[in-house]
Amino acid sequence: MSKKDKIGDLSDPYRVKEGKRLKLEKYNPDDTGDYSGDDRKIRAEEQTKVLLERLFKLQERLYAGQQNSLLIVLQAMDAGGKDGTIKNVFRGLNPQGVRVTSFKVPSSEEAGHDFLWRVHKEAPARGMMAVFNRSHYEDVLVTRVHGLVKDKEAKRRFDHIRNFERLLLERGTLVVKFFLHISKEEQAQRLQARIDDPERRWKFSPSDLEERKLWDSYQSAFEDALFETSSVDAPWYVIPANHKWYRNLVIVDALVKALVDLGPQLPPEPAGVDFSSLRVV
Ligand code: AMP
Ligand code: MG
Repeated sequence: MSKKDKIGDLSDPYRVKEGKRLKLEKYNPDDTGDYSGDDRKIRAEEQTKVLLERLFKLQERLYAGQQNSLLIVLQAMDAGGKDGTIKNVFRGLNPQGVRVTSFKVPSSEEAGHDFLWRVHKEAPARGMMAVFNRSHYEDVLVTRVHGLVKDKEAKRRFDHIRNFERLLLERGTLVVKFFLHISKEEQAQRLQARIDDPERRWKFSPSDLEERKLWDSYQSAFEDALFETSSVDAPWYVIPANHKWYRNLVIVDALVKALVDLGPQLPPEPAGVDFSSLRVV
């Protein structure tokens, strides 16, 4: 058994350590870890399948036990693979126990409240898994890149985010955050594919090209957010995401690890029933 066979070992190198400033250019978006050779994709997909089955069983327990919950935050540059991750990683789970929320430009009602208002409402109840496709982090990313939120305000928001996530944790919600890290070249290819394929044009927005011009500002806003808000209790992972099959594998590994650590327990059996002698006739 190689050391990477232990749950969590595969994703661990991508976890952002608390208090450590990071440079995204040091993270290789093409990284495929120990997976090399012609059959690397097939082997990774087999391993992903095994881990997805474990995730399914753990989710059943989480749902049945109604004790804890799990919040998964997905952030990325445009075309970074958030939608693909949701389709591939969560489709095998019990839909009753998972809720996905996609955060868009705030509506006028949302904009009339503090930036955590719309997010807090969607936090998972006990027993649930919640997936955020974009999140409260947009409020220290896109807003910052466009100069709508200045550094001083961003600092205050980081404080609010840390406290908010601590509040969730105290109430039994584990928070795991993934930054899907793609290269600028990969983004160009993916956006071009959306332009060229009529089946995919609906995903394209002309603003994607405008935002692409701000690539460097986005990267540095992400670096700041990851540094300010990655903690032992609510970690960020920088997921190498140029290869979708490796991205999926690393994320499933991190999620299984998170749930194993949480250790969801089944509810107690009904009291006063002697199951060993009970027969249904
Ligand atoms: P998509 O995820 O492709 O449907 O795009 C959603 C758009 O909403 C993206 O351009 C985001 O940057 C934008 N968005 C999400 N949350 C916020 C926010 N809090 N403030 C401003 N823009 C946001
Ligand atoms: Mg988009």
